[in-house]
Amino acid sequence: MASIAAPEFALSRIEHPGRVAADARTAILGNPGFGTSFSDHMISIDWSEEKGWHDATLGPRQPIPLDPAAAVLHYAQEIFEGLKAYRQVDGGIALFRPEANAARFNKSAERLAMPTLPESLFVDSIRALVDADRDWFPAIEGGSLYLRPFMIATEAFLGVRPAKHYKFLVIASPAGNYFKSGAPAVSIWVSEYTRAAPGGTGAAKCGGNYAASLVPQGEAIARGHDQVVFLDAAEHKWVEELGGMNLYFAFDDGTLLTPALTGTILPGITRDSILTLAREEGLTVEEGRYSIDQWREDAASGRLVETFACGTAAVVTPVGKVSGRDGEFTIGSGGPGQLTQRLKDRLVSIQRGETPDTHGWITRLD
Ligand SMILES: *Cc1c(COP(=O)(O)O)cnc(C)c1O
Repeated sequence: MASIAAPEFALSRIEHPGRVAADARTAILGNPGFGTSFSDHMISIDWSEEKGWHDATLGPRQPIPLDPAAAVLHYAQEIFEGLKAYRQVDGGIALFRPEANAARFNKSAERLAMPTLPESLFVDSIRALVDADRDWFPAIEGGSLYLRPFMIATEAFLGVRPAKHYKFLVIASPAGNYFKSGAPAVSIWVSEYTRAAPGGTGAAKCGGNYAASLVPQGEAIARGHDQVVFLDAAEHKWVEELGGMNLYFAFDDGTLLTPALTGTILPGITRDSILTLAREEGLTVEEGRYSIDQWREDAASGRLVETFACGTAAVVTPVGKVSGRDGEFTIGSGGPGQLTQRLKDRLVSIQRGETPDTHGWITRLD
């Protein structure tokens, strides 16, 4: 395989001794679900203080040898990204804003005291993996290949300081069709727990944030809701985001509001793309603060017409009901709203190459 990025990052290719058999793969791709099955290959690149990034390989997906003292297992030096390769209407394959994932990955790396990765190496690794596993796209319409780049601290050392050895990996998982129109509205539970405190790691995409969100999410499920929503840690008043999706509020006067990026909210790429698309739709888009009391009041008065959550995995998801310690309220009719659907359709049609890409968001792989 040709070298990628720069000569020092030459990607070596290890032959796969036994790929998943074609009939088994076909069965998986007929009903892929989310995050439960994986493609044949993975990318692996090592980092050390002495050598920097080295030994970039595209090889069989397999368990990684890890010393029991590896820093990631003790102090959670781990970050990740999530993006998709989309099948285009003309049969090609494209990534959506991969350079934005690369930039965010490096911001997360800085916050977790980990080495940054050249953006071109991040994107070219993903390209190489998608190319090797191009027969892993679900055959169903709107199926995509979900890509999970991540980095772990591999140094065997129990002292508390940044590790001196890291591994960057990319794995791929076929993802089902989230593009069906009329996705049902979800109900969400307002948690007493908090996700991120000022000065903490809320803006970094690190596994630790997710570990801390599992109990609150479990509580939401136990109470019969789909998702948890977090309020700010300082005043427990301002609406921040869900465990893994950002929020938008649409009002009857044509304004659209999303919580501002104060450092405790994850800067979603879907969130950012919707800011742009909504402005083009002629909406007045604001990044600001929205309190739980105002949310309840506006839902009751009808001033608030829609609420939706957004993120790469499920694109745009309408929120129908909100429950918490102070009772329950319904947004609009409790079902999916028109603006939510319109913004979702616009985004999906750009990602699938149905609408011309006027923003430079699409990176075609062929
Ligand atoms: C990944 C993530 C999002 C959504 O980000 P996208 O780039 O749109 O996928 C939102 N909130 C949290 C906490 C996340 O980890």
